[in-house]
Amino acid sequence: MQINAEQNELKSKPDKAPGLKVRSLPFFNYPALFKLDEKMYVDTFRAVCERGAYILQSDLLNFEDKLAKYVGVKHALGVGNCTDGLYLIIRAAGIPRGAEVIISSHTFIATASAIVQAGGVPVPVECGSDHLLDATSFERAITPNTWAVIPTQLNGRVAEMDSILKVANAHKLFVFEDAAQALGAKYKSQNAGSFGVASAFSFYPAKSLGCLGDGGAVVTNDTKLFEKMQLMRNHGRGDGTEVLLWGINSRLDNLQAAFLNFLLDQFPGAILRRREMATLYDSLLSDLAELVLPISPTKGEDHFDSFQNYEIEADRMEDLQVFLKSCGIGTLRQWGGKAV
Ligand SMILES: *Cc1c(COP(=O)(O)O)cnc(C)c1O
Repeated sequence: MQINAEQNELKSKPDKAPGLKVRSLPFFNYPALFKLDEKMYVDTFRAVCERGAYILQSDLLNFEDKLAKYVGVKHALGVGNCTDGLYLIIRAAGIPRGAEVIISSHTFIATASAIVQAGGVPVPVECGSDHLLDATSFERAITPNTWAVIPTQLNGRVAEMDSILKVANAHKLFVFEDAAQALGAKYKSQNAGSFGVASAFSFYPAKSLGCLGDGGAVVTNDTKLFEKMQLMRNHGRGDGTEVLLWGINSRLDNLQAAFLNFLLDQFPGAILRRREMATLYDSLLSDLAELVLPISPTKGEDHFDSFQNYEIEADRMEDLQVFLKSCGIGTLRQWGGKAV
């Protein structure tokens, strides 16, 4: 269910209720988001193009700096997308061939494919009622071949990291976060992305901090790992002509970084707006026994959720989608489902 309610225009639906104007709430409305910040996009595009500043330029460095501060970590690195980010993290941390990496079963395919591309074996485990990686299922899935765990901080909510870190530390496993959906979300006042050894974010257009195309970032407090990933995202090339290690080409475009610099400044306000909408949905829907709603922003002191998505559980999911569609409300079934 889309939360950017104010960006959608009024539509007349005379066939349903004569004379009544019904608000249309499509799941995605990219043109409306562009309109909202059109001047910024056009001015930024012109400024960047007049400087010819496309690859590894100052807007990217500024964004990396700003993002690291926002998340509360030492280093941030702009990469092509979050999937590449996860791949770079896993490779740079030195995954042994065939090692197992435990992941949430309720996640996007990218969490698993990044592991496979890096030579590992993804092991999905059950999630808790919060739709996030559950520490007990995680511990049960550990084998002598387990190397790391990657909780997905789904829907803008951080998993119970205290228990996950406890299990991981007891078994000497790496923790990385798939924080693609969780920029700005907090657990016990600590930001998503700052719990793991390294974490990846996505700036895909539909994410809560979305650019005009693909984009992503990795963050870490480990300076050695950061330096390795910095080389790896740029063909393994050092300052001179030397190639220091095998890398890939996965740099966040400077133009996208310039847009993101602007959007990140507004981001705290955007999260508060999402939380406000989630509180409203909760008050309006909580008496419907057929629905399992996300935990309300007003409940649970340990969590500050950013509501990338408002994910509802319903036995009669198709019926609910059809009904909401008839009211002009768009929905999407994770994963890969088409927005209707
Ligand atoms: C969007 C998403 C990704 C992939 O992000 P890209 O930037 O498109 O590569 C990975 N994991 C989760 C949970 C996501 O939602």
